[in-house]
Amino acid sequence: MTATVLLQGLRQDELEALCLEAGEKAFRGRQLWDWLQKTHALSWDAPCNLPARLREALRGRGYEVGAVAPLKESADATGTTKWLLRLFDGETVETVRIPGGKGRVTVCVSTQVGCKMGCAFCATGKSGFARSLQAGEIVGQVHLVTALQGGVRPDNLVFMGMGEPFDNYDEVLRAIRILNAPDGLGIGARKMTLSTCGVVPGIRRLAGEGLQVELSVSLHAPSGELRRRLMPVERRWPLDELLAACADYTAKTRRIITFEYTLVAGINDRPRDADELAAHLRAFPCRVNLIPLSPVEGFDGVAPARETINAFLRRLARNGIEATLRESKGKGVDGACGQLRRRVATGA
Ligand code: SAH
Ligand code: SF4
Repeated sequence: MTATVLLQGLRQDELEALCLEAGEKAFRGRQLWDWLQKTHALSWDAPCNLPARLREALRGRGYEVGAVAPLKESADATGTTKWLLRLFDGETVETVRIPGGKGRVTVCVSTQVGCKMGCAFCATGKSGFARSLQAGEIVGQVHLVTALQGGVRPDNLVFMGMGEPFDNYDEVLRAIRILNAPDGLGIGARKMTLSTCGVVPGIRRLAGEGLQVELSVSLHAPSGELRRRLMPVERRWPLDELLAACADYTAKTRRIITFEYTLVAGINDRPRDADELAAHLRAFPCRVNLIPLSPVEGFDGVAPARETINAFLRRLARNGIEATLRESKGKGVDGACGQLRRRVATGA
């Protein structure tokens, strides 16, 4: 059986080489690139001025176009829209479109079908892992939203949907470079945020890529002991190793890191948690993003009261740590990681 490869995950020079291999001229590769980039085509059936014989030849070798199809759409009062997408092999992932101020749009993309990391409070972590996405499936999510917006590309991208980006490092980095290409969608690297649960080798590799992308690290706890209760990844890459990698990253790239900290009542929201967190983070340039827990089936935790959240925020600030509160957008559309898919899968 020929493996399916999605063309949106190939660079222009690779498309040219592919056309040469198929007995065509290299300029057909440039045409193919333009077609994919300008029309946001998501299937071979989309109108196309490439010769039918070329399309047939590529199709015969397992090359597909986009192949992300919306199965289900939900929107809430804030204008946040979430799609459940069907991939070529029937697997499903989620993509979320979040409108912000001044008409700016952020798109949250998935990088894997499910996730191996098993964080206790995460719907994706609870649904297990099926496979990693190809670069073309990651890029395809952005083309899909662009097409639905009448050809207007989103302003910001966050790799915070389903999956752990650094458990699919090569395809994610490939997708970033393609999305960044000036003759493609041309989304600035600074407008893209990668979020990791703390896969240390990924942070170290990213530091050497020379990319201007933003890095978020999901910390969620100020000590290894507490972190282990929430995030199994702590066993593999303990907090001290993670923080050392973060410090090296900021020194090498001269970029700051955003730490994500999901607040769970009575677990990680005590004043001394804020103090301990601040003590770790004073060592290098960073900021903290507090996220009140979104309720998840199978995890019996809740978000702290508003008062506690504000007190945590003030305490970090008093300790010299810049912190903001991120209201979980898209609550009305099963906004948190993996929740829509889980609901569809369980028929709830
Ligand atoms: N795997 C990556 C990126 C996807 S998760 C990571 O873990 O960083 C994106 C963010 O959503 C992470 O910070 C994650 O911890 C957070 N998250 C997951 N489930 C959540 C929930 N129920 N409530 C609040 N935040 C949640
Ligand atoms: Fe995976 Fe991130 Fe969910 Fe953890 S929070 S299970 S790393 S998607």
